[in-house]
Amino acid sequence: MAWVLPQVFYVIPNALSSVSFARPISRVPIWLAEGNPFANYPWSTQPDAKLPEEVQVAVIGAGFTGAACAYHWAKHGKDTVVILDMNDPASAASGSNEGLIVMGRYFAMVKGTVRKHLDRTRADLTPAQRDKLASQFAAAYAKSAYKNADLIEKTIAAEGYDCDYARNGWIQIADERDQGALEESLHLDWRSGFDDRKIILPAEALNLGGIKLDCPASFSTGAAHFHPAKWVWSLLKTALEQPFVSLFTNTRVLRVEDAGDYYEVHTTRGMIKARFVINATESFTGLLHEQYRNLIEPVQTQAAFAGGGPPKMQPDIGYSCKRGFFGRIPHPPGVLFGSDETHLSYHEAGRNRPSRFITNFLIGELHNYFGRSSLHVTHEWGSTAGFTADEFPVVGLLDGKCQYIIGGMCGSGTAVSFNGARHVVQQILGLDGPDDYPAQYFAPTRLLAPEEHPWPESGNIE
Ligand SMILES: Cc1cc2nc3c(=O)[nH]c(=O)nc-3n(C[C@H](O)[C@H](O)[C@H](O)COP(=O)(O)OP(=O)(O)OC[C@H]3O[C@@H](n4cnc5c(N)ncnc54)[C@H](O)[C@@H]3O)c2cc1C
Repeated sequence: MAWVLPQVFYVIPNALSSVSFARPISRVPIWLAEGNPFANYPWSTQPDAKLPEEVQVAVIGAGFTGAACAYHWAKHGKDTVVILDMNDPASAASGSNEGLIVMGRYFAMVKGTVRKHLDRTRADLTPAQRDKLASQFAAAYAKSAYKNADLIEKTIAAEGYDCDYARNGWIQIADERDQGALEESLHLDWRSGFDDRKIILPAEALNLGGIKLDCPASFSTGAAHFHPAKWVWSLLKTALEQPFVSLFTNTRVLRVEDAGDYYEVHTTRGMIKARFVINATESFTGLLHEQYRNLIEPVQTQAAFAGGGPPKMQPDIGYSCKRGFFGRIPHPPGVLFGSDETHLSYHEAGRNRPSRFITNFLIGELHNYFGRSSLHVTHEWGSTAGFTADEFPVVGLLDGKCQYIIGGMCGSGTAVSFNGARHVVQQILGLDGPDDYPAQYFAPTRLLAPEEHPWPESGNIE
């Protein structure tokens, strides 16, 4: 904590001398500042529209995940699908984030979080077995995450989506005492076949991104940037071109009841019978499904946007350090920065209560790395991501029947949502496809009922 005092008494006051704040400051995420093309859809133009009485699939949530489900269904399905959101599409985490398409939480990190959890939950295994199992989990995750990033790129190109996509990488800063851990984690990634990250020297970082570093950093070569809300809206626009796809915003799902051959999806506007249900509700899942209250926790992260910013900071490159993230975005032009991981109770999902101290602190960090610049802060917001206890997502059947979930993406939704949605849609349609989310790793039983979870064969674990 020795770094706090100089930050509070020197770095922040010094950095703020070239910063102004709009009065009042907007709590609307910058990506939504120019309006939402699906605001109050379809009610704004069809106030008398009616929910369907019966559909094949009901998707709850219209963020990255729900919009991806709609897209894949529109491409492969024929039967009716309805997408329901209690607010507007991309109004939660998917329209509030940094806009970085990551190649996943990297292998060594995932192995670490899963290993810690297995130490608590799989005491029946030896430490060596837990270590092997954690590696298998991390490999399954990283494989599907790499594919996810590529699929997003291919889809944007094939559909001609205008969402400011650029694949320029992501610099992750490591300070002097973290250099050993950085090298070790990169070696572990490489040895396991995941070669996205490399080490760059300070001169290369300066050249690539205009950032001044004292030590080597990690660089994700495959990370990309986009306008996250435009991605969601583009997916929905494509999906809604099919007559069998419908979307209803400002329609909250109150509960889902199993009625035998179908589900009753009870909403604030009436009930829909659905043969399949996909929960794409991420940090809100505990509000709808009691059993997930402590399994997918809302974690608040906040961000801010400012016009101006360091002239040498390159657009569309991700930058992050231990205590925050930064980026220069093209539209609207300026810098976006954020931080914080505060675990909240399930009923606080979606909380938008950013701390000015954190904003000020991050401005200090921004100036440390890029030099002093003028900034005019106009937007400051918070939102929540969904975290599981082992920081590993769940993709699969929620109830062993026909209700699915894609969630617990732990702040890296771009690494799971699109490919995860494809997987679930293929499962529902009975299509053969790559099994990127095998049940032994991704099924929710891992957290809900570990004793019933189909763990990978212990014979595979030496
Ligand atoms: C500040 C911040 C920065 C981030 N940066 C990145 C990043 O750079 N890269 C990255 O990959 N990830 C990032 N994330 C995480 C990423 O935004 C999320 O993982 C992702 O958006 C989750 O998408 P989703 O569609 O599953 O959930 P959400 O976007 O949260 O959408 C869930 C939707 O479900 C709806 N809903 C919930 N309950 C109900 C109900 N009962 N009835 C009807 N509708 C309901 C909500 O209204 C919401 O629209 C960040 C998150 C934050 C907060």
